[in-house]
Amino acid sequence: MAVEAKKNEPKIDAEEVLEGIVEWVSIESPSHDAKSVNVVVDKVEGQFRDLGLKLDRTPGRDGFGDILECRTPWGEGKGILVLAHLDTVHPIGMIERDLRVRREGDSIFGPGIYDMKAGGYIAYYALRHLIRQGKKTKLPVTFLFIPEEEVGSPTSRARIEAIAKDHKYCLVMEPGRDGDKVVTSRKGVGRFVMTVKGRASHAGVRHEDGRSAILEMAKQIVRLEAKTDYARGITINVGLVRGGTGVNVVSAECTAEIDLRVPSQQLAEEMTHWFLGLEPIGSDVEVTVSGGMNRPPYQKDAGITDLFGKAQAIYREIGKELNDVPLTGGGSDGNFTAALGLPTLDGLGADGKGAHAAYEQIYYSSLVPRTYLCTRLLETLE
Ligand SMILES: [Zn+2]
Repeated sequence: MAVEAKKNEPKIDAEEVLEGIVEWVSIESPSHDAKSVNVVVDKVEGQFRDLGLKLDRTPGRDGFGDILECRTPWGEGKGILVLAHLDTVHPIGMIERDLRVRREGDSIFGPGIYDMKAGGYIAYYALRHLIRQGKKTKLPVTFLFIPEEEVGSPTSRARIEAIAKDHKYCLVMEPGRDGDKVVTSRKGVGRFVMTVKGRASHAGVRHEDGRSAILEMAKQIVRLEAKTDYARGITINVGLVRGGTGVNVVSAECTAEIDLRVPSQQLAEEMTHWFLGLEPIGSDVEVTVSGGMNRPPYQKDAGITDLFGKAQAIYREIGKELNDVPLTGGGSDGNFTAALGLPTLDGLGADGKGAHAAYEQIYYSSLVPRTYLCTRLLETLE
Protein backbone atom coordinates (compact mmCIF):
# COMPACT_ATOMS: atom_id res chain seq x y z
CA MET A 1 0.00 0.00 0.00
CA ALA A 2 1.14 3.48 -0.86
CA VAL A 3 0.63 4.78 2.67
CA GLU A 4 2.73 2.12 4.35
CA ALA A 5 6.00 3.92 4.75
CA LYS A 6 9.16 1.89 4.62
CA LYS A 7 11.49 2.07 7.61
CA ASN A 8 13.68 5.18 7.68
CA GLU A 9 11.71 6.77 4.90
CA PRO A 10 10.61 10.29 5.85
CA LYS A 11 6.95 10.52 6.75
CA ILE A 12 4.50 13.37 6.56
CA ASP A 13 4.55 14.44 10.19
CA ALA A 14 1.53 16.42 11.42
CA GLU A 15 3.51 18.08 14.23
CA GLU A 16 6.17 19.17 11.78
CA VAL A 17 3.56 20.54 9.35
CA LEU A 18 1.85 22.42 12.15
CA GLU A 19 5.10 23.88 13.42
CA GLY A 20 5.83 25.30 9.96
CA ILE A 21 2.32 26.70 9.59
CA VAL A 22 2.56 28.43 12.97
CA GLU A 23 5.84 30.07 11.92
CA TRP A 24 4.09 31.67 8.94
CA VAL A 25 0.99 32.56 10.94
CA SER A 26 3.07 34.22 13.66
CA ILE A 27 4.09 36.88 11.14
CA GLU A 28 0.91 38.95 10.82
CA SER A 29 0.39 40.23 7.28
CA PRO A 30 -2.67 42.36 6.49
CA SER A 31 -3.04 43.04 2.74
CA HIS A 32 -2.53 46.81 3.02
CA ASP A 33 0.61 46.52 5.16
CA ALA A 34 3.31 45.89 2.54
CA LYS A 35 6.11 45.89 5.10
CA SER A 36 4.52 43.15 7.18
CA VAL A 37 3.53 41.07 4.15
CA ASN A 38 7.15 41.28 2.97
CA VAL A 39 8.39 39.85 6.26
CA VAL A 40 6.50 36.65 5.55
CA VAL A 41 7.63 36.81 1.89
CA ASP A 42 11.24 36.90 3.20
CA LYS A 43 10.55 33.80 5.26
CA VAL A 44 9.00 31.87 2.36
CA GLU A 45 11.71 32.99 -0.04
CA GLY A 46 14.41 31.66 2.28
CA GLN A 47 12.67 28.30 2.62
CA PHE A 48 12.28 27.83 -1.13
CA ARG A 49 15.86 28.95 -1.72
CA ASP A 50 16.99 26.21 0.65
CA LEU A 51 15.10 23.69 -1.50
CA GLY A 52 17.13 24.83 -4.51
CA LEU A 53 14.31 26.52 -6.38
CA LYS A 54 14.82 29.38 -8.81
CA LEU A 55 13.39 32.55 -7.32
CA ASP A 56 11.96 35.67 -8.89
CA ARG A 57 10.76 38.36 -6.49
CA THR A 58 8.93 41.35 -7.95
CA PRO A 59 8.80 44.48 -5.79
CA GLY A 60 5.28 45.43 -4.73
CA ARG A 61 3.48 48.51 -5.96
CA ASP A 62 0.49 50.63 -4.94
CA GLY A 63 1.22 49.94 -1.29
CA PHE A 64 1.15 46.15 -1.56
CA GLY A 65 3.82 43.55 -0.83
CA ASP A 66 6.10 41.69 -3.25
CA ILE A 67 5.08 38.87 -5.58
CA LEU A 68 7.24 35.77 -5.10
CA GLU A 69 7.69 33.16 -7.81
CA CYS A 70 9.61 29.93 -7.14
CA ARG A 71 10.34 27.41 -9.92
CA THR A 72 11.75 23.93 -9.76
CA PRO A 73 15.04 23.73 -11.65
CA TRP A 74 13.90 20.47 -13.27
CA GLY A 75 11.17 19.58 -15.74
CA GLU A 76 10.33 20.79 -19.21
CA GLY A 77 7.31 22.19 -20.95
CA LYS A 78 4.08 23.27 -19.35
CA GLY A 79 3.95 22.41 -15.67
CA ILE A 80 1.96 22.82 -12.49
CA LEU A 81 1.14 26.27 -11.14
CA VAL A 82 0.59 26.37 -7.38
CA LEU A 83 -1.18 29.52 -6.15
CA ALA A 84 -1.21 30.80 -2.58
CA HIS A 85 -1.59 34.21 -0.99
CA LEU A 86 0.44 35.42 1.97
CA ASP A 87 -1.81 38.30 3.03
CA THR A 88 -4.66 38.02 5.52
CA VAL A 89 -7.72 40.14 6.30
CA HIS A 90 -6.78 40.55 9.96
CA PRO A 91 -5.23 43.78 11.30
CA ILE A 92 -1.95 43.67 13.20
CA GLY A 93 -2.54 42.75 16.83
CA MET A 94 -5.25 40.11 16.31
CA ILE A 95 -2.66 37.54 17.30
CA GLU A 96 -2.64 39.03 20.80
CA ARG A 97 -6.42 39.18 21.03
CA ASP A 98 -9.12 36.86 19.61
CA LEU A 99 -6.73 34.98 17.36
CA ARG A 100 -4.01 34.03 19.80
CA VAL A 101 -2.23 31.00 18.30
CA ARG A 102 -3.55 28.12 20.36
CA ARG A 103 -4.79 24.58 20.13
CA GLU A 104 -8.14 23.44 21.48
CA GLY A 105 -8.79 19.79 20.75
CA ASP A 106 -8.57 19.33 16.98
CA SER A 107 -8.66 23.08 16.27
CA ILE A 108 -5.70 25.40 15.92
CA PHE A 109 -6.45 29.13 15.88
CA GLY A 110 -4.48 32.02 14.39
CA PRO A 111 -4.84 35.02 12.06
CA GLY A 112 -4.99 33.75 8.48
CA ILE A 113 -4.24 30.19 9.55
CA TYR A 114 -7.17 28.79 7.56
CA ASP A 115 -7.25 31.47 4.85
CA MET A 116 -4.65 30.53 3.86
CA LYS A 117 -1.25 30.21 5.42
CA ALA A 118 -1.85 26.54 6.22
CA GLY A 119 -2.48 25.87 2.52
CA GLY A 120 0.61 27.75 1.39
CA TYR A 121 2.79 25.95 3.88
CA ILE A 122 1.30 22.56 2.98
CA ALA A 123 2.35 23.14 -0.66
CA TYR A 124 5.87 24.02 0.46
CA TYR A 125 6.05 20.99 2.76
CA ALA A 126 4.74 18.74 -0.03
CA LEU A 127 7.57 19.68 -2.36
CA ARG A 128 10.12 19.43 0.44
CA HIS A 129 8.77 16.00 1.31
CA LEU A 130 9.28 14.78 -2.26
CA ILE A 131 12.78 16.21 -2.37
CA ARG A 132 13.82 14.60 0.90
CA GLN A 133 12.55 11.26 -0.38
CA GLY A 134 14.88 11.74 -3.34
CA LYS A 135 11.93 12.21 -5.70
CA LYS A 136 11.10 14.79 -8.30
CA THR A 137 7.89 15.89 -9.90
CA LYS A 138 7.28 14.77 -13.48
CA LEU A 139 6.34 18.29 -14.50
CA PRO A 140 8.07 21.54 -13.60
CA VAL A 141 6.32 23.33 -10.75
CA THR A 142 5.89 27.08 -10.25
CA PHE A 143 4.78 28.38 -6.86
CA LEU A 144 3.32 31.86 -7.01
CA PHE A 145 2.79 33.73 -3.74
CA ILE A 146 0.37 36.65 -3.99
CA PRO A 147 0.57 39.65 -1.61
CA GLU A 148 -2.98 41.09 -1.94
CA GLU A 149 -5.51 38.39 -2.85
CA GLU A 150 -7.85 39.48 -0.07
CA VAL A 151 -8.42 42.80 -1.81
CA GLY A 152 -8.93 41.25 -5.27
CA SER A 153 -5.29 40.85 -6.45
CA PRO A 154 -5.15 44.24 -8.22
CA THR A 155 -1.36 44.20 -8.63
CA SER A 156 -0.94 40.48 -9.35
CA ARG A 157 -3.84 39.56 -11.61
CA ALA A 158 -1.91 40.28 -14.83
CA ARG A 159 1.03 38.22 -13.56
CA ILE A 160 -1.21 35.28 -12.61
CA GLU A 161 -2.85 35.33 -16.03
CA ALA A 162 0.47 35.58 -17.88
CA ILE A 163 1.97 32.66 -15.93
CA ALA A 164 -1.21 30.59 -16.23
CA LYS A 165 -0.72 30.46 -20.00
CA ASP A 166 2.54 28.53 -19.56
CA HIS A 167 1.06 25.85 -17.34
CA LYS A 168 -0.91 22.65 -17.67
CA TYR A 169 -2.61 22.56 -14.27
CA CYS A 170 -3.32 24.95 -11.45
CA LEU A 171 -3.53 23.96 -7.79
CA VAL A 172 -4.95 26.64 -5.52
CA MET A 173 -4.14 26.21 -1.84
CA GLU A 174 -7.14 28.19 -0.54
CA PRO A 175 -8.91 26.65 2.49
CA GLY A 176 -10.56 23.26 2.27
CA ARG A 177 -14.28 23.28 2.88
CA ASP A 178 -16.47 21.87 5.61
CA GLY A 179 -16.25 18.14 5.64
CA ASP A 180 -12.86 18.06 3.91
CA LYS A 181 -14.11 19.19 0.49
CA VAL A 182 -12.35 20.96 -2.39
CA VAL A 183 -13.54 23.63 -4.82
CA THR A 184 -14.08 22.98 -8.53
CA SER A 185 -16.17 26.03 -9.42
CA ARG A 186 -16.74 29.54 -8.16
CA LYS A 187 -19.08 32.27 -9.16
CA GLY A 188 -17.78 35.32 -10.96
CA VAL A 189 -17.75 38.59 -9.03
CA GLY A 190 -18.86 41.96 -10.38
CA ARG A 191 -18.66 45.39 -8.75
CA PHE A 192 -20.78 48.35 -9.81
CA VAL A 193 -21.28 51.91 -8.60
CA MET A 194 -24.58 53.67 -9.23
CA THR A 195 -24.75 57.45 -8.93
CA VAL A 196 -28.04 59.33 -8.90
CA LYS A 197 -28.17 63.08 -9.38
CA GLY A 198 -31.37 64.90 -8.37
CA ARG A 199 -31.99 68.50 -7.42
CA ALA A 200 -31.56 70.03 -3.97
CA SER A 201 -34.19 72.23 -2.36
CA HIS A 202 -35.41 73.34 1.06
CA ALA A 203 -37.44 70.49 2.52
CA GLY A 204 -39.90 72.87 4.13
CA VAL A 205 -40.12 75.96 1.94
CA ARG A 206 -39.54 74.60 -1.61
CA HIS A 207 -40.17 70.87 -1.27
CA GLU A 208 -41.89 70.73 -4.66
CA ASP A 209 -38.81 72.11 -6.43
CA GLY A 210 -36.58 69.30 -5.25
CA ARG A 211 -35.89 65.98 -6.98
CA SER A 212 -34.74 63.55 -4.34
CA ALA A 213 -31.74 61.46 -5.36
CA ILE A 214 -32.36 59.27 -2.31
CA LEU A 215 -35.93 58.54 -3.37
CA GLU A 216 -34.74 57.60 -6.85
CA MET A 217 -32.02 55.41 -5.35
CA ALA A 218 -34.58 53.70 -3.14
CA LYS A 219 -36.59 52.74 -6.22
CA GLN A 220 -33.43 51.62 -8.01
CA ILE A 221 -32.40 49.47 -5.05
CA VAL A 222 -35.73 47.66 -5.07
CA ARG A 223 -35.27 46.96 -8.80
CA LEU A 224 -31.63 45.87 -8.34
CA GLU A 225 -32.28 43.51 -5.45
CA ALA A 226 -35.28 42.02 -7.25
CA LYS A 227 -32.88 40.80 -9.94
CA THR A 228 -31.43 38.27 -7.48
CA ASP A 229 -32.38 34.84 -8.75
CA TYR A 230 -31.24 31.94 -6.57
CA ALA A 231 -32.45 29.39 -9.11
CA ARG A 232 -30.08 30.83 -11.74
CA GLY A 233 -27.34 31.45 -9.17
CA ILE A 234 -27.48 35.24 -9.54
CA THR A 235 -27.15 37.38 -6.42
CA ILE A 236 -27.10 41.15 -6.15
CA ASN A 237 -26.26 42.98 -2.98
CA VAL A 238 -26.43 46.74 -2.54
CA GLY A 239 -23.85 46.85 0.21
CA LEU A 240 -23.10 50.52 0.62
CA VAL A 241 -25.28 53.60 0.16
CA ARG A 242 -24.34 57.24 0.66
CA GLY A 243 -26.49 60.26 0.00
CA GLY A 244 -27.90 63.57 1.15
CA THR A 245 -26.44 66.59 2.86
CA GLY A 246 -28.95 67.36 5.61
CA VAL A 247 -32.22 66.21 7.03
CA ASN A 248 -34.00 69.38 5.87
CA VAL A 249 -32.57 69.28 2.33
CA VAL A 250 -34.07 67.32 -0.57
CA SER A 251 -31.05 65.26 -1.58
CA ALA A 252 -29.16 66.13 -4.74
CA GLU A 253 -26.90 63.10 -4.87
CA CYS A 254 -26.81 59.48 -3.82
CA THR A 255 -24.39 56.66 -4.63
CA ALA A 256 -24.61 52.92 -4.08
CA GLU A 257 -21.99 50.18 -4.36
CA ILE A 258 -23.26 46.89 -5.62
CA ASP A 259 -21.88 43.34 -5.54
CA LEU A 260 -22.90 40.87 -8.24
CA ARG A 261 -22.24 37.09 -8.30
CA VAL A 262 -22.94 34.94 -11.35
CA PRO A 263 -22.20 31.30 -12.18
CA SER A 264 -21.39 31.59 -15.90
CA GLN A 265 -19.68 33.82 -18.42
CA GLN A 266 -22.93 34.17 -20.33
CA LEU A 267 -24.72 35.51 -17.25
CA ALA A 268 -21.74 37.74 -16.48
CA GLU A 269 -22.15 39.39 -19.87
CA GLU A 270 -25.92 39.52 -19.64
CA MET A 271 -25.90 41.10 -16.18
CA THR A 272 -23.10 43.56 -16.98
CA HIS A 273 -25.08 44.73 -19.99
CA TRP A 274 -28.19 45.10 -17.81
CA PHE A 275 -26.36 47.09 -15.14
CA LEU A 276 -24.70 49.50 -17.54
CA GLY A 277 -27.99 50.14 -19.32
CA LEU A 278 -30.05 51.06 -16.25
CA GLU A 279 -32.14 54.19 -16.66
CA PRO A 280 -33.96 56.52 -14.24
CA ILE A 281 -37.29 55.40 -12.83
CA GLY A 282 -38.50 58.84 -11.69
CA SER A 283 -38.43 62.05 -13.72
CA ASP A 284 -35.85 64.86 -13.73
CA VAL A 285 -33.08 62.71 -12.25
CA GLU A 286 -29.88 61.34 -13.75
CA VAL A 287 -28.62 57.81 -13.19
CA THR A 288 -25.13 56.61 -14.14
CA VAL A 289 -23.63 53.19 -13.57
CA SER A 290 -19.96 52.23 -13.79
CA GLY A 291 -18.09 49.02 -13.07
CA GLY A 292 -17.93 45.49 -14.40
CA MET A 293 -16.73 41.98 -13.59
CA ASN A 294 -13.58 41.86 -11.45
CA ARG A 295 -13.32 38.06 -11.22
CA PRO A 296 -14.63 35.94 -14.08
CA PRO A 297 -16.70 32.84 -13.28
CA TYR A 298 -14.75 29.60 -12.66
CA GLN A 299 -16.78 26.87 -14.31
CA LYS A 300 -16.26 23.14 -13.82
CA ASP A 301 -15.36 21.96 -17.32
CA ALA A 302 -14.02 18.64 -18.60
CA GLY A 303 -10.41 19.48 -17.72
CA ILE A 304 -11.37 20.38 -14.14
CA THR A 305 -13.51 17.25 -13.78
CA ASP A 306 -10.55 15.15 -14.92
CA LEU A 307 -8.13 16.85 -12.50
CA PHE A 308 -10.63 16.44 -9.66
CA GLY A 309 -10.89 12.72 -10.55
CA LYS A 310 -7.12 12.40 -10.15
CA ALA A 311 -7.32 14.04 -6.72
CA GLN A 312 -10.14 11.68 -5.71
CA ALA A 313 -8.04 8.66 -6.72
CA ILE A 314 -5.17 9.95 -4.55
CA TYR A 315 -7.47 10.42 -1.55
CA ARG A 316 -8.66 6.82 -1.96
CA GLU A 317 -5.05 5.69 -1.47
CA ILE A 318 -5.43 6.80 2.14
CA GLY A 319 -8.96 5.47 2.43
CA LYS A 320 -10.71 8.83 2.14
CA GLU A 321 -13.42 10.10 -0.17
CA LEU A 322 -12.88 13.54 -1.69
CA ASN A 323 -15.92 15.64 -2.58
CA ASP A 324 -16.31 19.07 -4.07
CA VAL A 325 -18.61 21.78 -2.73
CA PRO A 326 -21.58 23.00 -4.73
CA LEU A 327 -20.91 26.23 -6.63
CA THR A 328 -19.57 28.76 -4.14
CA GLY A 329 -20.09 32.52 -4.22
CA GLY A 330 -16.62 33.31 -2.91
CA GLY A 331 -14.00 34.26 -5.52
CA SER A 332 -10.28 33.45 -5.52
CA ASP A 333 -7.30 33.72 -7.85
CA GLY A 334 -8.51 30.37 -9.21
CA ASN A 335 -11.20 32.35 -11.05
CA PHE A 336 -8.49 33.94 -13.21
CA THR A 337 -6.74 30.68 -14.13
CA ALA A 338 -9.93 28.66 -14.71
CA ALA A 339 -11.38 31.40 -16.92
CA LEU A 340 -8.32 30.99 -19.16
CA GLY A 341 -9.11 27.30 -19.60
CA LEU A 342 -6.39 26.06 -17.24
CA PRO A 343 -7.67 23.02 -15.30
CA THR A 344 -7.84 24.44 -11.79
CA LEU A 345 -8.41 22.64 -8.50
CA ASP A 346 -9.02 24.94 -5.55
CA GLY A 347 -9.64 24.57 -1.84
CA LEU A 348 -6.63 22.24 -1.44
CA GLY A 349 -5.55 23.82 1.86
CA ALA A 350 -6.28 22.63 5.37
CA ASP A 351 -9.85 21.96 6.45
CA GLY A 352 -11.25 24.24 9.13
CA LYS A 353 -13.66 27.12 9.48
CA GLY A 354 -14.07 30.81 10.21
CA ALA A 355 -12.26 32.40 7.25
CA HIS A 356 -12.01 36.17 7.89
CA ALA A 357 -13.63 35.72 11.33
CA ALA A 358 -12.30 36.10 14.86
CA TYR A 359 -12.60 32.33 15.39
CA GLU A 360 -10.59 31.32 12.30
CA GLN A 361 -9.18 27.80 12.77
CA ILE A 362 -7.81 24.73 11.02
CA TYR A 363 -8.34 21.10 11.94
CA TYR A 364 -5.23 19.24 12.98
CA SER A 365 -6.72 15.99 11.67
CA SER A 366 -6.75 17.41 8.13
CA LEU A 367 -3.02 18.21 7.98
CA VAL A 368 -1.71 14.78 7.02
CA PRO A 369 -4.41 13.95 4.43
CA ARG A 370 -4.16 17.39 2.82
CA THR A 371 -0.36 17.28 2.71
CA TYR A 372 -0.51 13.76 1.26
CA LEU A 373 -2.97 14.95 -1.40
CA CYS A 374 -0.78 17.87 -2.42
CA THR A 375 2.40 15.77 -2.38
CA ARG A 376 0.90 13.08 -4.61
CA LEU A 377 -0.66 15.59 -6.99
CA LEU A 378 2.75 17.21 -7.48
CA GLU A 379 4.38 13.79 -7.83
CA THR A 380 1.94 12.18 -10.24
CA LEU A 381 0.51 14.89 -12.50
CA GLU A 382 1.93 14.50 -15.99
ZN1 LIG B 1 -7.92 33.18 0.75
